Amino acid sequence: MRFLPIFLNIENKVCLVVGGGDVASRKVDHLLIANARINLIAKDICQDIEALISSGRITRLEGDYNESMMDACELVIAATDNKSLNSIISKDARRRHLPVNVVDNPDLCTFIMPSVIDRHPVQIAISTGGASPVLARLLRARMETMIPSAYGKLAELIHSFREKVKGQIPDMRQRRRFWENILQGPVTELLYSGQDKAALALLEKHLQQSDTNINNRGEVYLVGGGPGDPDLLTFRALRLMQQADVVLFDRLVAPAIVKLVRKDADRIYVGKKSDQHAMSQEEINKLLVKLAREGKRVLRLKGGDPFIFGRGGEEIESLAEEGVSFQVVPGITAAAGCAAYAGIPLTHRDHAQSCIFITGHMKDGKLDLNWDTLIQPGQTIAVYMGVGATTVICEELIRHGMNEKTPAAIIQQGTTSNQRIYVGTLKTLSTLVVEEDIKPPSMMIIGNVVKLRDKLSWYETRVD
Ligand code: SAH
Repeated sequence: MRFLPIFLNIENKVCLVVGGGDVASRKVDHLLIANARINLIAKDICQDIEALISSGRITRLEGDYNESMMDACELVIAATDNKSLNSIISKDARRRHLPVNVVDNPDLCTFIMPSVIDRHPVQIAISTGGASPVLARLLRARMETMIPSAYGKLAELIHSFREKVKGQIPDMRQRRRFWENILQGPVTELLYSGQDKAALALLEKHLQQSDTNINNRGEVYLVGGGPGDPDLLTFRALRLMQQADVVLFDRLVAPAIVKLVRKDADRIYVGKKSDQHAMSQEEINKLLVKLAREGKRVLRLKGGDPFIFGRGGEEIESLAEEGVSFQVVPGITAAAGCAAYAGIPLTHRDHAQSCIFITGHMKDGKLDLNWDTLIQPGQTIAVYMGVGATTVICEELIRHGMNEKTPAAIIQQGTTSNQRIYVGTLKTLSTLVVEEDIKPPSMMIIGNVVKLRDKLSWYETRVD
């Protein structure tokens, strides 16, 4: 190991920065986050540094660099574009045994600055030993997605309970088990989902019971898996998918997404093809309660968003009635996903001031929709579950006064590599469905915004 990773306390310590450009500015930002005092010497100064000088947050030294400027300093950064000057600064600092960093020159450095993931007070520093700052940054970006933003809050909560827990559970091994359970259980989930008070109350409760086996309380995660492309999952969805003990999913969830669920989680397929449910809604509701009662972390994975034509409301209603804890994670709904991947903005200042989501699911061969509301001008209609009802929908809209030439599109398996887009008008759409043998899952988008696709499409080819 070429560099020893350490975290340096430079609070209120004077640091000398030589250089006033953008690179120096980035270093200054890091130093200021750690509450250092900064003396800066530079001929030319960028706007950001200028602002910091004006606000009194850093002190600008007059004249040219000279070694005596290091007198009161505890750390030195050379960020000039003058190689020989950088080298002199490095030598001067090393002679004085001051830690020195020279930008883009690891050989002249006695310390290097890592890429930092900051979840104060938790910090993760990444370094490639100066080999490739870009690589360190990319790695940081990957890790940022894995570590919930509330991690810092979690550390603070634990910190505030440390002494109390020590008093209550004197045995070190038991105490460690207590904390391990807390960190992997519902307290952290409450905190991550922004329910700080409830997290605190639950932690308090577990402590009062000195209950070291606290994770026998199951919970349900109702998670929206988005329209198909796994890249469209939220960070939270992915995290919960990776910690679930059992997953209940239906046909609409793309296999590529189910694959991302923790490998050793039990997988329960609950079906749901229209009119041919593998498991009734009632049975699903009951199963969720039963599994959570067994102490499992149950992932109820839904296509799109759970609260948009997803029956998510019904499922959590029974959980709430039974006192099972749960959380809901929104997903990208099919209308948003399909519209984006088809290059059709759902609203547009010139073409649509509103957008309405409707279901084309028929009951006894009929569609119970408010047609007069749907034909309003300047509105986009996004139809879910509508392939089987295309003829009825188009005919009714025309009968109620919508222009038969109104553009309309059907997006089949949107956002996936099998995405197909069919563009027509209210008049031609039902013929297209038959001729092209269009199948669910498909979204229908009706309105003038469909025309914008000619300019804005970017993902795969069109069929029309
Ligand atoms: N909760 C889901 C919708 C469930 S209803 C959501 O928010 O997206 C099921 C309907 O969603 C399908 O019949 C279809 O109309 C639409 N749908 C879901 N995924 C789709 C996809 N990848 N492409 C096109 N339509 C899709």
